Amino acid sequence: MTLPELNRMFSSDERCRELLKKLRWPLGVECLRCKSNKVCELATQKKFQCMECNYQFSVLTQTIFHDTHLPLETWFMAVLLLIEARKGISANQVKRTLGISYKTAWYLNHRIRAAMKISNQPMLAGKVEMDETYLGGKQHTYSKAGFGDSNKEIVIGIRQRSGELRFFHAQDVKSGTLAKYIKENISEDVDVIFTDELNSYPGAMKETGNKDRHKTIKHKAKIYVDGDTHTNTVESAFSLLKRGLIGTWHKLSAKHLHAYLTEMEFRFNRRNHEEIFIETLRYMVTADPLTYANLITEKDPEFDKVPA
Ligand SMILES: [Zn+2]
Repeated sequence: MTLPELNRMFSSDERCRELLKKLRWPLGVECLRCKSNKVCELATQKKFQCMECNYQFSVLTQTIFHDTHLPLETWFMAVLLLIEARKGISANQVKRTLGISYKTAWYLNHRIRAAMKISNQPMLAGKVEMDETYLGGKQHTYSKAGFGDSNKEIVIGIRQRSGELRFFHAQDVKSGTLAKYIKENISEDVDVIFTDELNSYPGAMKETGNKDRHKTIKHKAKIYVDGDTHTNTVESAFSLLKRGLIGTWHKLSAKHLHAYLTEMEFRFNRRNHEEIFIETLRYMVTADPLTYANLITEKDPEFDKVPA
């Protein structure tokens, strides 16, 4: 999808709604309350009414678009900007490009990101690399920091070679925490897991039954590739993330880091998908609403899952 194509295909509210309707209800409109298919269209009000329970709703009700005052054409353009920006796009840039307020652009970006959070993703298998990196502190000093550096945020990356990537904002890099991410994301019949020599990996591998499938690259000894033992593919994803953070997001608040990671992961895993624009809209029209109040008071959902 290019900007001229977008302008041609989705030049009006009606056209945008027509697409969202097809994506939300591929088998025909269904009442949100009683699931009945006996629904009539109140075209002038851009609504549907259920003939069984009389409930009125629109294609936007109870989705990421819920209660929006922005034109759908603006939403569609914002989606295109977000999915086309390999390193991400700041709220300030969206504000300037779409001619909307900063607050609106910020909230808009976050709602699109919220729809990019996919539950029940497939487990990673085959050859998998796992690595950790540290973000924050002073700008341009995104180097690996020491254990327990409280000024920095920890990101765990797991990537299947020739496959998908997962990013997590982690509370720490203790064995138990790493084991949790392994259990939740790496298949039990994985062939091999490559990591660096961080001393909590052996415990995590033992705990998850992967002791004999664990290969370590000795970065401290300045060895970066040893046969097929390396963590270069997950590190290349980290470097894209860091360039995005330095170049576009600047001051990133730790409580929203998980949302930026979700966006990076979503786009990275779909970088060769022709249909990423439509796919993103499909997630948006099937995702739950994210209110502004919830967004500004949210806690990092990853942190709630980690045992203290
Ligand atoms: Zn109904």
